[in-house]
Amino acid sequence: DRINIAIDGPAGAGKSTVARRVASLLGYVYIDTGAMYRAVTLAAQRSGIGTSREDLLAELVSNLDITLKPGDPVQRVFLNGEDVTGLIRSREITAGVSAVAAVEPVRTSLVDKQRKLALAKGVVMDGRDIGSHVLPDAELKVFLTASVEERAKRRYKESGAEQGYTLEQLEREIAERDRMDEQRLVSPLVKAKDAVLLDSTNDTIDEVVQRILELSRG
Ligand code: C5P
Repeated sequence: DRINIAIDGPAGAGKSTVARRVASLLGYVYIDTGAMYRAVTLAAQRSGIGTSREDLLAELVSNLDITLKPGDPVQRVFLNGEDVTGLIRSREITAGVSAVAAVEPVRTSLVDKQRKLALAKGVVMDGRDIGSHVLPDAELKVFLTASVEERAKRRYKESGAEQGYTLEQLEREIAERDRMDEQRLVSPLVKAKDAVLLDSTNDTIDEVVQRILELSRG
């Protein structure tokens, strides 16, 4: 029987790479919820709406059409029909997303979408609050972490250097985003009580993927 798998953890822990591979090996659908918050952030920045304007953000998010399309090597993200897959990874979006994600009506709307996407089961969803809030009944919950130094190093190799970050800047950016995600009032970043803690500081992506597949077999 198909199950739902929730993968949460701090920034840069390898969640999306791991989640995508697990989904592909199981023939499941991968859903990157961070991409949804990033798409809302892009729309807000374009409209010049600051995070103090909850009312305007609520209206904005209720009129947005955010679609995720599975693709190789990455899932593509569409905002009102426009492919914004690359745009939502920019430094400006990364710097602004945690503040937008802390706004309650933004979360309410996106969580509602995420729950609908998981109704049919067979979903691997990654984010910050999936096991604790979005899918509390997910059959398997993983909390994936790694030391902040290791996460910054991986990000640096993957895209950070290209985007002009120094390793120190990345480490600060990641630590600050984690702090905001952990401290926000609505569904903060937290390990669900029944989530399996996986620390990947000394493990390869492949080892983490294999471990999750094992866990998924029960
Ligand atoms: O996963 P990613 O790093 O792309 O997520 C970007 C940001 O979106 C996170 O730092 C967090 O502020 C927000 N987010 C969230 N809840 C989720 C997924 C992402 O608040 N389920």
